[in-house]
Formats: sequence, C-alpha cells, structure tokens
Amino acid sequence: MPVLLLNASMQPLNVISRRRLVVLLTKERVAFFDDSDRVAVEWEVAHRRLGEGVIVVRLLRNVVVPRRLIRANRRNLLLRDEHTCQYCGLRAGPTELTIDHVIPVSRGGNPNSWENQVVACKRCNGRKANHLPDEVHLRLARPPRPVVQEYAHLLLLRHPEVRSAYEDLLRSVVPSHLRELSPSSSGAFLQPMG
Ligand SMILES: [Zn+2]
Repeated sequence: MPVLLLNASMQPLNVISRRRLVVLLTKERVAFFDDSDRVAVEWEVAHRRLGEGVIVVRLLRNVVVPRRLIRANRRNLLLRDEHTCQYCGLRAGPTELTIDHVIPVSRGGNPNSWENQVVACKRCNGRKANHLPDEVHLRLARPPRPVVQEYAHLLLLRHPEVRSAYEDLLRSVVPSHLRELSPSSSGAFLQPMG
C-alpha cells in the first residue's frame, strides 16, 4: 500500500512503495508526522511484513520540483472533471464519457486547451454537437480550469486514498487561516504550503 512522500514544504511529491520508504529511512532523509506510523513501519521492517495503511512522510530537506507541463489529454481531463458530465452531472465510466469542445473547433475553439475541453456524457455531447452551450440551453457546472499546481494535483486525483490521508493531515497540522483547501471538491486546487 502507498506511502505519500511530501516535500519539506508539505507539497505532495510522489506516491512511493513501502520498500522505497525503508530506503529513505535508512538514509535519514524523511520524517514521520505521526509517531505511531514510525512504530508501525519499524515493526513491519523487523518482521519483514509490509503493512496496508496509507502512511505520509515528509522530506527533511526541501527539493526543488521542476514545473511540468501537464497536457489536457483525455485521461487528465477525466481526472480533472472527476468522470462527471460537466453539463448534466452524470457520473459514469470512461467508456460512457466523451470530451466536448465548449467552443466547437469548427467555430474557432482551441482543440487542445484545458479551458475549452470538458467531460460530457454522450447524450449531452450529441445534443450540443456543433453549438455553443447557450444555443442548446446547456450550462457548464463550473468553468473549466487548467490543472495548476500540476503534478501534485493530478497525483492526488489519481490516488484518492492518499488524497484523503493528505487532507486529514493538512487539517491537523496547518492552521485554518493558511489553508486553501476544499475537501469535498477536486475543482478546488491544493495550494503549496510553506
Ligand atoms: Zn450529460
């Protein structure tokens, strides 16, 4: 089961294996937030049985994370929009969902941008066809935004179990006036801490 590795600044860096965690611990590069996690992992190592629960650790020294360009491809759009039709709210499997260009490409819409692409069910996409949303009385649930805080955000969307552990942690360690986090909606973007 996963270990969420945070930068010293609290920004999520990666999801790593228990084995990788053991290597980082040996090199004294990470710290636990919770002493019971430390005890649990030490027990696992001593008994050569790696456990199941999500563990969050933090690098002792910050590493600089290069900004990566995240493409607005189908896979990432499905993550951003949480597999939910942005017109009618239908949540469905990937095969039931399409990508709609808000301004149709044939009418000058950008074919590749985060802002001009949304997840739509087949029914809504069929109804919208070559129109603007207003013309067929469709309304977007929320304005399509680029995925900022790129990597960390997608990482958390890909690993829901890790995301909730991270959100719990933020609630416990970050003062509320410094927190910019909406736990219920991934439309809210996690801000870097520190
Ligand atoms: Zn729909």
